[in-house]
Amino acid sequence: MTGTPQRRLVVFSGSGVSADSGLDTFRTSGGESLWAQYDPQVVCNFDCWEKNFSLVHEFYSRRREELGQAAPNAAHFLAVDWERRFGAELITQNVDDLFERAGARAVLHVHGYLPALRCMSCGAQWLIGYRRFSPETDRCPKCGRLESVKPNVVFFNEPAPRYAEMWRSLESLTANDVLAVIGTSGLVLPIGEIARRSPATTILSNLRPAASPRDRDFDHVLHGRAAEIAPDLDRLMTELMDR
Ligand SMILES: [Zn+2]
Repeated sequence: MTGTPQRRLVVFSGSGVSADSGLDTFRTSGGESLWAQYDPQVVCNFDCWEKNFSLVHEFYSRRREELGQAAPNAAHFLAVDWERRFGAELITQNVDDLFERAGARAVLHVHGYLPALRCMSCGAQWLIGYRRFSPETDRCPKCGRLESVKPNVVFFNEPAPRYAEMWRSLESLTANDVLAVIGTSGLVLPIGEIARRSPATTILSNLRPAASPRDRDFDHVLHGRAAEIAPDLDRLMTELMDR
């Protein structure tokens, strides 16, 4: 056998994957949710985060504590299994570390990483884990500033520096490759458009049919909770990758 190029698999995921681990976002927030207790336009807004410094850190401290209590589910473990078996490239809009805790080697977090802080003055990034932020101990370890320390999460109105890598990965897919989109509303990134234009075989796994992304833009569609339909998704993927 000669020269068959390696089939690539890109897995693009969103909040639906982590919803089954008890984490949600402002788009899905119910009455009990942390997101229902804060105004995202105040605590996740790049234009005014410095003005709301304490509130921003209070909200993100609580999100980290919530993340510390959460555990990866079957959908995270499935993606990690694909990383091992097929060399899957994992791209996620999620800021949690549940893929990493499921054993992932490399995850492209296009919207940032919740267990880390970032200094907007000198660019330093460091881990805080699931701890609360403290003005006493969480100054920038490199330049010593406090007021420029921000959760390492991409806010509204803030550039997302890792989009370039994401576009490179998505736009270089060929007809030989597979793109799986799991648990995302497609409201932030036009993933339905990307799938429709992509020469790759495309799979959509979402809770239910939605206006965005549209089922008809994908070659294969599976509905249901990501963690519950993981075995069906795995069967389909194995068939596509082994063909
Ligand atoms: Zn700094």
